[in-house]
Formats: sequence, C-alpha cells, structure tokens
Amino acid sequence: MAGTRNLTQVEAAERSRLLDVTSYDIAVDLTDGTGGPGDGTFRSTTEVTFRCAEPGATTFIEVAMHGLRSATLNGKPLDISGWSAETGLTLPDLAAENTLVIDADAAYSTTGQGLHRSMDPVDKEVYLYSQFETADAQRVFACFDQPDLKSVYTWHVTVPAHWTVVSNSRVVSAIDGDVEGTKTLHFEQSVRMSSYITALCAGPYHEVRKTHDGIDMGIFVRQSMKQYLDADDIFLITEQGFDFFHQQFQVRYPLPKYDQLYVPEFNAGAMENFGCVVHGEDYYIFRSAVTDYEFENRANTILHEMAHMWFGDLVTMRWWDDLWLNESFAEWASHWANAHATRFNDAWTTFLSVRKNWGYRQDQLSSTHPVYCDMPDMEAVEVNFDGITYAKGASVIKQLVAYVGIDAFVAGLRDYFGKHAWGNATFGDLLSSLEAETGKPLREFAAQWLETAQVNTLRPEIVTAEDGTYAEVAVRQEAPAAYPTLRTHRLGVGLYDLDGGALKRRETIEVTVSGERTVLTELAGKRVADVLLLNDEDLTYAKTRLDERSMATVVDHIATFDNSLARAIVWAATWDMVRDAEMRARDYVQLVVNGLPAESDINLVTATLRQGAGAIVNYADPAWAETGWTLLADAARTAIADTEPGSGFQLAWARTYISAARSGEDLARIAGWLDGDGVPEGLAIDTDLRWSIVAALSEAGRIGEDVINAELDSDRTASGERKAATATALIATADGKAEVWRRLTAGDALPNWLQRALLGGFQSTVHPELTAPYSPKYFEILDHIWASRDSEQAQEFVSGAYPSLQVSEETVAASDAWLADASHPAPLRRLVAEGRDAVVRAIAARLKDAS
Ligand SMILES: [Zn+2]
Repeated sequence: MAGTRNLTQVEAAERSRLLDVTSYDIAVDLTDGTGGPGDGTFRSTTEVTFRCAEPGATTFIEVAMHGLRSATLNGKPLDISGWSAETGLTLPDLAAENTLVIDADAAYSTTGQGLHRSMDPVDKEVYLYSQFETADAQRVFACFDQPDLKSVYTWHVTVPAHWTVVSNSRVVSAIDGDVEGTKTLHFEQSVRMSSYITALCAGPYHEVRKTHDGIDMGIFVRQSMKQYLDADDIFLITEQGFDFFHQQFQVRYPLPKYDQLYVPEFNAGAMENFGCVVHGEDYYIFRSAVTDYEFENRANTILHEMAHMWFGDLVTMRWWDDLWLNESFAEWASHWANAHATRFNDAWTTFLSVRKNWGYRQDQLSSTHPVYCDMPDMEAVEVNFDGITYAKGASVIKQLVAYVGIDAFVAGLRDYFGKHAWGNATFGDLLSSLEAETGKPLREFAAQWLETAQVNTLRPEIVTAEDGTYAEVAVRQEAPAAYPTLRTHRLGVGLYDLDGGALKRRETIEVTVSGERTVLTELAGKRVADVLLLNDEDLTYAKTRLDERSMATVVDHIATFDNSLARAIVWAATWDMVRDAEMRARDYVQLVVNGLPAESDINLVTATLRQGAGAIVNYADPAWAETGWTLLADAARTAIADTEPGSGFQLAWARTYISAARSGEDLARIAGWLDGDGVPEGLAIDTDLRWSIVAALSEAGRIGEDVINAELDSDRTASGERKAATATALIATADGKAEVWRRLTAGDALPNWLQRALLGGFQSTVHPELTAPYSPKYFEILDHIWASRDSEQAQEFVSGAYPSLQVSEETVAASDAWLADASHPAPLRRLVAEGRDAVVRAIAARLKDAS
C-alpha cells in the first residue's frame, strides 16, 4: 500500500515514551493563487512544539506529502535528503523543548483518504473533506500520527472568499487574503485530541444551524443537494441522542459546537472527527423515496458517531489493538440509544438481522480472529474494520450488559470517563471500572468471548413423552474442529404456541448452557410447544437450529410470531442453515416468498429479501436459479400490489422485483415503468428507482450505452454519473467487460467513486460467464494493485474483483496456487483467502441444493 508510513506498535510505544506533544499550528492554502480553488497540491506549513524525555534522542515524524520544501528543528535546518512519504522525516538530537517547522506541498486526494477533493458536476463547485483514520492526517500536516500522542491544534486556512471551512473548533476571525477573492480563516485552538480525529472540510457548503441544550449544531451539504436535505429529522435524532447520552453518561459533551457534514465520495458510512462529524452523502441524503430501513440506518449512524464523542474522542484507545472496543462500544451504544430515545424501538431486531449476521459471516471465514487481537502495524489495522470488530464485539458488550445489569454498566462507564477524560485508556481500564462498580470478576468472561475466535452452534435435542409433554430437552453445543472452544452461554429459550393461526409466546426461560450437552431440566414435563426457540431475546452470540417440529411450524407461520426479534432469530437460523449446507437454497427461497410478504418489520423485509436473492446467486444449483428468480419476481410483483400504495414495503418489494426480473415479460414490464406504462399505484418511479431499472436492463442485455447516456442527460449529477458508470459496466458484452477491466487496472488509480461504481457492475449475476476470463488476470495483477494504490482502494479492488461468481473448483485451485506463495503481503493474502472461503461455501451449498 502506498503513500504513508506503516507505523508499528513497537515504534509507537517508544515514541510515546519519549515525547509529549504540546501543540500544532497548521497553515494551509487551498487556493490556486488567483482566487480560485486549488488543484493538484496545496501548501502546508506545520509548526509542532513538543517535549522530549531524553534530550539527545532521535525520533521521526510522519510527513506523507507530495514534496518537502524545508524542515527546521529548534531554528536549525534539518537534512531532508532522507525524507520520503513512506518513511517520514528523521528528527535527530532532540532538545528537552523542541520547535519543529515543516514546510511542504501536500496532495489533494481522490481516494477518500487525506484531503479528498471533488468537483460537483452540477455547478462545478469544488468541495473538500478530510478523512484521517487510521493514519492519514500526515497527508495534510506533519504529525506524530498515533492515537496516544494527543495534542491541541490551531488551523489557519486560506480559501476562496465564498467558501465555508469547518474544523474541530470554531473560526475566530476571517481576514481578506493577499490575493483578491480569497480569505484566511483563523480557528481557535482545539481541545486535546488524537491526530486521527482532527478534521478540515472546505467548500461552498450549504449550512443549517440550530442550538439545543447549549450546543451549537450545524448540518452541511453541497449546494446542489440542499433541496434534498431534511435537516429537521437529522436535528431531531441528534437532539434525542444528546439528551439520552447526557442523561446516561452524566458527562457533558465537551465542545461548544457539533457539526455534521454530508459529503460526496466518502468511503465509509461516517467518521467521528471531534465536533466535526463527516457522513457519506450517498447513503444518508435521500434524492428519491426511501423506506424506514434507510431512516433507521441514518439514525443509527448519527448515534454511533455521537457515542464516539465520549468513547473514542474524549477517551481514546492507546493503540489500535483496542479499535474493536472503540467500534463495538459505538455500535452497541447506537442501538441502545435508538431503541430507547428515538422512534426506532425495534433497533435490536435490526442489530441482529443486519449487523450481527455480518459478524457471524466474518467470524466463519478462514481469516477469523478474536475480537481482541494484537495489531503489529497499520497495515494489519486497516483490514480489520470488519464484522468481528464492529458487530461481534457489540454483541459481546450486549452480553456483558446483560451479565452485570445496565445500571452497573453505566456506573462503570461514568467512572471510566471520569478517570480517563482527555487521555488514553485500554480495555483493561474499562474492565477495572466495571469490576469496581459491579463487584463481579469480569476477566474470565472477557477472555472467553474476546480472546477466542469463531462461533458455536446450539442445537436442541428433544424427547417427547406420550402425554404431549417434554420428556427431555437438551442443548448440544458444537464448535468447528479448528476452533474447539465451547463457551458458557446465558440464553433465553422461548416456547411459542399457535393460537388462532399466530405464534404467541407462552413463556421464556433463561438458562445457562455450557459444555457439549446441557439438559434443560426446567422444561421437563412442560407441554410441547409448536416452536421451541433457542436464544429467544437474542442474548447470546451463537448459531442456532430448530428441532423438526419447530421447523415444520415456522415454514407456514414465520410471519406470525408476536415479536420481531423472534422472527429475526428464525430468519437468521434458516439463512445460516443454507450457508452451512444444512438447508436447500430452494427451500429457503420458498420460505422467503411464503413468509416475508406478511412481515411487518421493514428491516427484516429488506435484509431478508437481499438474502433471498443471495441464496439464488450463490447457494442454489445454477440449473434451478431461473426457477428461483421467477419465484422471487412473482412474489415481489404480488406484494407490490398487496402492500399499501406509496409505503416503504411497496418500495422494498419493487426494488426486489427490478433486481429479480429475468424473464422477457418481467423485463418488459420494468422497461415500461421507465416510460410510465403500467406503473403500480403509489409507486413513484423516481430518479434512483429509474437508475435501478436502467441497471437491470443493461445487465440483461436489453439496452446499451445510448439509453444509459440519455438517462444521464436527465440526471447530470454526481449520483447520476456514478449510477451511469455502474450501468455501463453491467453491459453484457465481452468488449464491454474488457473496457471495464482496462479502466480498473491500467495506469493510475481511478477516483474512489468511479472505481467503486465500475466494480459494482463488472461482475454480473446474470452473465457470470462474461468475467470468467478475468480470473487469471486478477491473480496476476493483485500485487501490483496492492503496492500502488491507497489502502482503502486497494482493499476494495481485491475484494470486489475477486471472481466470487466463478463458483468452481478451478477458482479454489487458482486461489490456492496464489496463496501458496507466502511472499505476498499478509493483509492481501487475508482478503484473497476470504474470497476463496465464500466460493468453497457456495460449492457445498449448491451441492446440497441439488440433492
Ligand atoms: Zn465508529
């Protein structure tokens, strides 16, 4: 991976022992010298003052710049001949008190890392945002880029006169620049923080402000997006979040202002810069109709980033080995707040169906790792923003809360914030606070769940007595051979009976399961239930199975459970059985088309429809796939007519119908919708739905570039260009695929949005054979891509271009041959191995489906 220093934990610990960073003073000029926005590079001057515990010692500073003009340490010029972006600059012969001045030219980025620059195609305005996690602040200013060298920062930013600039602190003064049409904004000194959560966003952003409980809140979008900004709802969730966290944490949000920017071309969902949160506009500013799935997801992200203000920003991990704690806590806290403080009361159902299933999937890959693991260097960290770090970790926190009780947990948090505010801490520090408040020893619990990898499976074993009661109910616990840990699970066992055609909960008992087999003596003699549900209330982290009688019941009645979490547990269990080749994909698809139309939780509908399509693509016998698509399309078409016109449910089913359309009749129908023919009542064929239809028709070979370009002509926006690029990449011809591959691999990296859009259309579930010739080319080019691209784009290419739709032993063999060469970088090997895992799983599931 290119461009920055791959700092090791050993280096960071040594530098932290040596240094205390007093302050940064940073001046950047973002103009082109004539009053317009700059391009290419920008001048960046950093003055750092710091103390050194051992005068005479040598250290280094990260300077990942395009060019270094000069460096002066304590008034003396430094030799900069040994400098490079990948090594930084050596600082020899330090004094006790040091002043370092570095004058450099930094590069604007188009990769989403560093200072990202984009131009809005609508009005040609330039927008900048910064993204510094994990270690990209060094691309904008010289810094000791590690989380436990906190400092204060003072920015001076020269920009075109009509721009707005947002950072962690407020603007103190705006002075006209030396060049006409420019101004220089001087910011107040920031609070103490780590370099990775500093921020600089600039451009002619549209701004809306509101004060709540003494906090000055701002929301920013591009000018061309302001018509789509529903600031009221974003403010509402933000206010609900502040009120909830203030009440729970008993520690005030420590800054006077809280800005949230919705920026284009962002790689992740959002980033928790202190007081200057950046969100991905693509996901959260809605140009077209969306469902409550999207609104809840947006609320979840707002609350996740807000939780980081305390957990991550005010108290920060010492090193990246506690990244999991940072993310798991924010993930847990956002669902906790969503469930209690907003209108999204069923947030824990969403947590299971969307997030926890991600954790289970990740945890079963060959790359699985304990939630807590050593992070030797930055490259290892950057591939670890995964389902284990976020979702499994959050599940463990949820279990921990259930174990100690929420009141004691919150008391422990208050102690932790009080002790470590403005500093750094470790998981051990949090455990100490929790143990002090709860009086319970937690290290054993932590070790069992955080220091071991993989997931257990819990199966019910039932013996029924002649009188219709349980003679014996036992739970068998399994573990994969390579990870034989059996754990202690605290879980609910729910007994559900059919009553008037609906499944009603008779009772839930809480039990402890450990070892290979646990007899639940509490259940002996109880009347046999129509469904016995393991992990009712979703208390533990485990794969679960249903007994025969329960499975027979849910096949016809899955939508009738009286609580959404129970339905989510059964959907998760059946999906997992498909993935484990214990259930035929066609039976799962049948369950989806039978059970889902009556589902009343939009998150379950959305997540399960995606899994239904995924089952056909990956896990069904290809000879049956066409039948599967017909089943899904027919069910979707019926559901569109049966759901409330204009509702989110209708929209969710319409999206599925468009993506499942394979027959000539279905394709003709959606093509008609583009022209306003036969549009179902209540369904708005708006901009984004139009693009979905265009993409589907392109993939099916029904339209060509002319139709895509005509659509783009009526949507000349950043989103339009992105959707057009994907639709073009989907064009079902060999020449088309060759051109996409050329663009993805030849020459320099594409802008992040374009690479993502092309990868999204390169491989096609309709015509996987078109990209079969690229499997060998993929393995040939991997090392080059990895060495020459920024980390996030390199990762996206490796995962997105992996031949995952070539489900065959040949793909496994090609992967094995490549993996046999141990000289490839470990993080790259990890991503390729994960691609291989998915193919191996698909082969087994397809065999099961064909049986
Ligand atoms: Zn986060």
